[in-house]
Amino acid sequence: MKKVLMLFLVMFYVLSYMVNSDIVSAKSPTKVKQEIKWDWPVEGVLTDHFGTREGTHFGVDIAAGKGKEIRVVEKGMITKSYYSDSYGNVIFVKHPNGVETVYAHMSERLSEAGEKVEKGSIIGLIGNTGESRGDHLHFEVHLEEWNIHKTNAVDPLSFLTDEQKAANVNAPHLEKNEEVSITITEGDTLWSISQKYNVSVNELMRLNNLDSNLIIAGQNLSISKEKT
Ligand SMILES: [Zn+2]
Repeated sequence: MKKVLMLFLVMFYVLSYMVNSDIVSAKSPTKVKQEIKWDWPVEGVLTDHFGTREGTHFGVDIAAGKGKEIRVVEKGMITKSYYSDSYGNVIFVKHPNGVETVYAHMSERLSEAGEKVEKGSIIGLIGNTGESRGDHLHFEVHLEEWNIHKTNAVDPLSFLTDEQKAANVNAPHLEKNEEVSITITEGDTLWSISQKYNVSVNELMRLNNLDSNLIIAGQNLSISKEKT
């Protein structure tokens, strides 16, 4: 009886050691996910989410002005840099934790395969190449190597800092049809404003007669809650 108990205790300690020391959990996708908080590869407006288009959209779309610099989210090695009919000018980066990121539709690629990059290195410029409508970055995250069926793809938003999402928990609450005017400050985007005031980017553009997503510091914007 004592022997059985001893054996059980030994097994328990070995197992808890393995779990705590990452032998078991080191490659668990959830763990990789929790550890990552990247800056956005480009500042812009989120125009499409992961998993849309009947599950065929394996990344997020971030609209930004043509020529705007695209930064690699984490240090790594460029595995591919080429032009494809669908991705347009595209760059793939493999990171030390096994994650691979993809940057597509660029107007220009500034890095070649085999190059080492640091976190924040500029690897290309925003464009509208390949199967793309409008200047934007299509950004994908794969927990392991990219493959043609994109089975390792995960929602990039869970890896990105919330700064451009909804940093403002204490969002001002607008009554329906109430209209306010705000002044854009450095770092604001239509997306961040849309999150803050809970109005859509399209509505902001319509209300302010904007032709593009670009706004500049000092500019005034009218905001009104959409009529429902
Ligand atoms: Zn896309």
